[in-house]
Amino acid sequence: GFKMGIVGLPNVGKSTLFNALTRTAAAQAANFPFCTIEPNVGDVAVPDKRLDKLAGIAKSKQIIPTRMTFVDIAGLVKGASKGEGLGNQFLANIREVDAIAHVLRCFEDGDVTHVEGRVDPVADADTIETELMIADIESIEKRLQGLVRKVRGGDKDAVQQERLLKAALAALEEGKPARTVEVDAEDAKAWKMLQLLTAKPVLYVCNVAEDQSATGNDHSKAVAEMASAQGNAHVIISARIEEEIAQLDAEEAEMFLSEMGLEEPGLDRLIRAGYDLLHLETYFTVGPKEARAWTIRSGTLAPQAAGVIHGDFERGFIRAETIAYDDFVTLGGEQAAKDAGKMRAEGKAYTVKDGDVLHFLFNT
Ligand code: GDP
Repeated sequence: GFKMGIVGLPNVGKSTLFNALTRTAAAQAANFPFCTIEPNVGDVAVPDKRLDKLAGIAKSKQIIPTRMTFVDIAGLVKGASKGEGLGNQFLANIREVDAIAHVLRCFEDGDVTHVEGRVDPVADADTIETELMIADIESIEKRLQGLVRKVRGGDKDAVQQERLLKAALAALEEGKPARTVEVDAEDAKAWKMLQLLTAKPVLYVCNVAEDQSATGNDHSKAVAEMASAQGNAHVIISARIEEEIAQLDAEEAEMFLSEMGLEEPGLDRLIRAGYDLLHLETYFTVGPKEARAWTIRSGTLAPQAAGVIHGDFERGFIRAETIAYDDFVTLGGEQAAKDAGKMRAEGKAYTVKDGDVLHFLFNT
């Protein structure tokens, strides 16, 4: 599965947000067998109204959403890259995530201490990014030293790593995060394996006051400008409100949201933004037993998409019977889509599209 790490300075609302994410009805829906929830790791259902629609048409007994993992990574303070506080453990935790949800305090509240004694989310973002950049520089320098002998010996992988590390170092020394380095397709895999902290995509989460989640405020506006200048995404939510909504049942939540002038919980927007950030897409498998959503990277070919369900599906892949979501819904189900000639037999070279309803045929 895909992992998002929640980071931010102390007291910005990380835990509040994490609790909301993992306590919400959607997170608990569907007893997914691998839904292990550790204190700071939570599997969260990806909200998708299309899945309910498909399940309704197919009269599926069970609805199983696809999931995304959130990790609450506490402990970043100024000086973390020097091992202060929980610094080192913190950095190790960040290395393992696919993307970073960076929570920024955009609410004023005299009762909640800010570590720097003022509310300035743009400066906070800079503080954290600086720590991560310092940590990257130090780890790159160490790794470059470790590569010297192998590079001299002509080891091809080492030569590639050295070239990529040097490109990252050059950017970092100019004060730019590693994600600003342009990487060729053939280097993409090796680049990812470097696990540089500032190479990970970032989504800023503006935590605003309870009555501002529909509108945002001046702080969130400043973050939005910074994010767009950097090419990063941002969402505006109120962690406190989300925590309250997470404790309501579906009907109560709907009423509460409409009173607040919100169309959907902020968490849904956050999860979707994370999904977009990672270029993820969803395909569906639909039958009378269950309707289920599956996550793939955009651009995934049919056999690899099948492999998300089971390795055997990928190894023995024959073809994928494919119905586009719109056809399935407009025509009213699998049989009707088939009768209308809208079920396609797609082979190994087919790139799965977001919303495809798939049925895999494979050799065992
Ligand atoms: P963390 O240290 O980043 O995990 O922050 P917490 O989630 O523990 O939040 C720190 C404090 O800020 C708690 O007392 C929260 O209730 C409070 N807090 C979080 N979000 C909001 C908010 O939107 N408005 C207000 N007024 N307080 C909030």
